[in-house]
Amino acid sequence: MRPIQMVDTHTQYHKIKSEVDNAVIDVMESSAFINGKPVQEFAISLSNYLGAKYTIPCANGTDALQIAMMALGLQPGDEVITPSFTYIATTEVIALLKLTPVFVEVDPKTFCIDPAAIEKAITPKTKAIVPVHLYGQAAPMGAIMDIAAKHKIFVIEDNAQAIGCDYFFKDGSKKKTGTIGHIGTTSFYPSKNLGAFGDGGAIFTNDETLAIKLKMMANHGQSKKYYHDVVGCNSRLDTMQAVILNIKLKHLDAYAASRRKAADFYDQAFASHPKITTPFRAQYSNHVFHQYTLILDGADRDELNNFLSEKKIPSMIYYPVPGHKQKMFAHFNVASQTMPVTDWLTERVISLPIHTELDMEQLNYITGHVLEFVNK
Ligand SMILES: *Cc1c(COP(=O)(O)O)cnc(C)c1O
Repeated sequence: MRPIQMVDTHTQYHKIKSEVDNAVIDVMESSAFINGKPVQEFAISLSNYLGAKYTIPCANGTDALQIAMMALGLQPGDEVITPSFTYIATTEVIALLKLTPVFVEVDPKTFCIDPAAIEKAITPKTKAIVPVHLYGQAAPMGAIMDIAAKHKIFVIEDNAQAIGCDYFFKDGSKKKTGTIGHIGTTSFYPSKNLGAFGDGGAIFTNDETLAIKLKMMANHGQSKKYYHDVVGCNSRLDTMQAVILNIKLKHLDAYAASRRKAADFYDQAFASHPKITTPFRAQYSNHVFHQYTLILDGADRDELNNFLSEKKIPSMIYYPVPGHKQKMFAHFNVASQTMPVTDWLTERVISLPIHTELDMEQLNYITGHVLEFVNK
């Protein structure tokens, strides 16, 4: 059996190796390492794929969130509502810009921000909501956009984990996640569903004025070369990553299908097990399975993690400490906030290997050992 990894980017690379190698050599020959033509070509392909009017490539998914908040003109002290149960990048940039993170609960089924909790957290200082499409499934965007419209606040979708995911509206229409809010952001970190061979990120919007501001913010606040109107930052996707991403984008739907196939296998193996809750599949969204995350109840999660590790099966806890309990936010006095759902999840979630290259032998081996442990 091939060794099992959380993500197998190596085998995936080998399936498109000659195309990627040639494209990378072309970039080296052109020596247009920064802002080469392929960067704009990739931005256009991605806009077309997502149905976004504007795509602004940048250096990584954390920068993308920061640039989004800068472009919206958020000011120190403004409140930004965000789930506590997410990766630190989502919330860190809020504090970095001297904005105030307001942590709210997630839905225990979808793992995504709970609209009822958003409503309760809104104050006159609230300027934005940052929903996260966690693990590859959409947050309930219909309800979130309604709340935002009612209170005239912005929505920035953190789409780092769900690129390619479809959101279905009540009227039957659909949109890709990242294109529903005022701004969407994503990451091309190698292990993400659309992963580069290094760092990368992008920002999406359908609003022309915002697109201009986003572009300026990502490029030293520059409106024309050497004319700097606002304080911005330097955040670029390099040409090498752009050519690789342009190749991988063609495979993104097939990649999602492979991930879903593995997820379906897991779902079946663990179906109606009393100690395991398999990922909930929301009606309003499909799932691109950035992670396959179980809720374990009645069995020790950390012991399972160790047991699997002895069997050479990696597993991960995303995330063991929720935002409101991170030391970096202690000065916001959020540690004492009661978040029963978030706390409950952080103690029980465990993610199994999921990627585009899992085979039947590996899947059987993984499910067999998980079941051996929980049936002990
Ligand atoms: C990966 C990730 C980011 C940050 O992306 P980087 O490219 O690593 O900066 C932001 N938010 C979420 C939810 C992520 O998973």
